[in-house]
Amino acid sequence: MCIFCKIIKGEVPCGKIYEDEHVLVFLDINPISKGHCLVVTKEHYETLLEIPEDESIYLFKALKKIGKALMKGLKADGFNIGMNNFSAAGQVVMHAHFHVIPRFKGDGLKHWPGKKFEEGDYVKEIKRFL
Ligand code: 5GP
Ligand code: ZN
Repeated sequence: MCIFCKIIKGEVPCGKIYEDEHVLVFLDINPISKGHCLVVTKEHYETLLEIPEDESIYLFKALKKIGKALMKGLKADGFNIGMNNFSAAGQVVMHAHFHVIPRFKGDGLKHWPGKKFEEGDYVKEIKRFL
């Protein structure tokens, strides 16, 4: 069983922030900033691609709820939402989850580096699979 499933079952402790029938929110054990939360589905899905459409509304609601609570409760000035899908993208725990990272003015965290835009045939390649 994966570590997040163990947390959901209560076999491993966590800093629980919010829970409903579908979703659990808890503090990341290795936070990027204070109040860094993880929003997970109670069902085990590996990545975004496996999450059924009808579950996504509960995730979206929880993300909004947590973002608002972080802004009010921690006086955050903003927040980032991130999701790593597949190991190439940095996913370490293979139980789909969103990171909600409170941001504070002048916190020094950097965004991903951008590259120069190059015209290519990516549009065609991507659209083929929509
Ligand atoms: P990923 O790279 O898979 O998107 O991120 C996994 C996240 O889960 C990491 O930020 C890591 O700190 C967090 N994490 C891993 N194991 C545990 C744990 O046992 N408890 C908590 N609260 N967070 C964990
Ligand atoms: Zn799991």
